Amino acid sequence: MTVVGVVGAGVMGVGVAQNFAQTGHQVVLVDLDKATLEQALTQIERNGRLSRLVGGPAVDVDAMMAAITVDVELAALGDAEVVVENITENWDLKRQLYGSLDQVCSPETIFIVNTSALPITKVASVTRRPDRVIGVHFMNPVPMKSAVELIPGHHTSPETVRRTRDILGAIGKKAIEVKDSAGFVSNRVLMLTVNEAAYLVHEGVADASTVDEVFRECFGHPMGPLETADLIGVDTILYSVEVLYDSYADSKYRPCPLLKHMTDAGLHGRKAGKGFYTYDEYGRVLPTR
Ligand code: NAD
Repeated sequence: MTVVGVVGAGVMGVGVAQNFAQTGHQVVLVDLDKATLEQALTQIERNGRLSRLVGGPAVDVDAMMAAITVDVELAALGDAEVVVENITENWDLKRQLYGSLDQVCSPETIFIVNTSALPITKVASVTRRPDRVIGVHFMNPVPMKSAVELIPGHHTSPETVRRTRDILGAIGKKAIEVKDSAGFVSNRVLMLTVNEAAYLVHEGVADASTVDEVFRECFGHPMGPLETADLIGVDTILYSVEVLYDSYADSKYRPCPLLKHMTDAGLHGRKAGKGFYTYDEYGRVLPTR
């Protein structure tokens, strides 16, 4: 049984931990504090119980929960064969974390970087194992999504690519490989769209529900860009747009001030109960008009 370390127990870490645990892997989930980890376990258990109802597989919840241990110390990842990192989209935090992970993990351990936009080669450069660092851009909610972007860095070895493909196959994910470039394919496009949608609200052209209505009703998209922003996390959207802005030094990625304001105000979307929309405890949108 593969031992998988999962660092960061937020929106993505919860989904990644659940996905590995429900497919027979041993998971060690690490975050900064116990309260976050307890909340994550509660959420994983609830998601496991609801899996069938929302179109996912039937989950043996007891077996899944028994496969997960939680810890606030990175040292708990000493036996992990692979570590999936899902911490806040912030270069300084990630740089510091990878320096520490490099020390506590075996030199053989593969580091999977789950980032929205940071170049994988840049992350790999702060470790002594750039051949064993690879990007996997998981989609949200992780257990419900069947494909990921797979991003080898400049030094990622063919063996690491092969093993990562095997690991992804074991949790039911198709890997779509793209070259290493900030934002990859998905978020070069999606983050610009969401940022521009936020500008429409910021400038008073339309309110959030009208913007989303246009995308749903006119284009047939299942979700509008601002519903998507709330699902991803408004703070994560802002940080990702900032990474794109820094990476390309191109004004087309200028972050919308409304995203900054909402991030400062704690309006982080579904995970916070409020963003462009307001949510109940089950993540259902409460009526606004
Ligand atoms: P989040 O804000 O929901 O959670 C981040 C978690 O990381 C928090 O619980 C925080 O306490 C923890 N953390 C921060 N620093 C840490 C450290 N040094 N050690 C351990 N834990 C630490 O963020 P998220 O939405 O889960 O995103 C995580 C990563 O995944 C980001 O890089 C993001 O860009 C990427 N991502 C997000 C989505 C999405 O839809 N939200 C999709 C794909 C990729």
